[in-house]
This record gives sequence, C-alpha cells and structure tokens, in this order.
Amino acid sequence: MIDKESARAVAGWLRLADRIAGRTPVEGRCDCCGGTGYLNADKQRLCAACYLDGETAAS
Ligand SMILES: [Zn+2]
Repeated sequence: MIDKESARAVAGWLRLADRIAGRTPVEGRCDCCGGTGYLNADKQRLCAACYLDGETAAS
C-alpha cells in the first residue's frame, strides 16, 4: 500500500496523462477499494493507490 501523499501525486500524473491523451477524466468510486477520487478507467475503475498496487503486483 502506498501512502496518501504518493497516491495524491499519482492522481496528479494520471490527470495530466489523461489531459495529454485527450481522455475524459473520471472521478467516482474505485472498483477495488471502494474509495472515491480520481480514477484510472483504462480497464477497471481504479483509484491511484489501487492502480499502483496493481502495477506492482503485475510486474
Ligand atoms: Zn482503490
């Protein structure tokens, strides 16, 4: 698990990446932890913390 400050930073990167890619930012409830916030909606709707955890687990 990553700390809140890191999650906030990652959320900022996701937001920036989406803006550059022209994707619509998604905010809502995370499929994984149920928390609300900025979501990476590529395959699942994941908050920054769960997205990072998934990336770490997948590698
Ligand atoms: Zn989550």
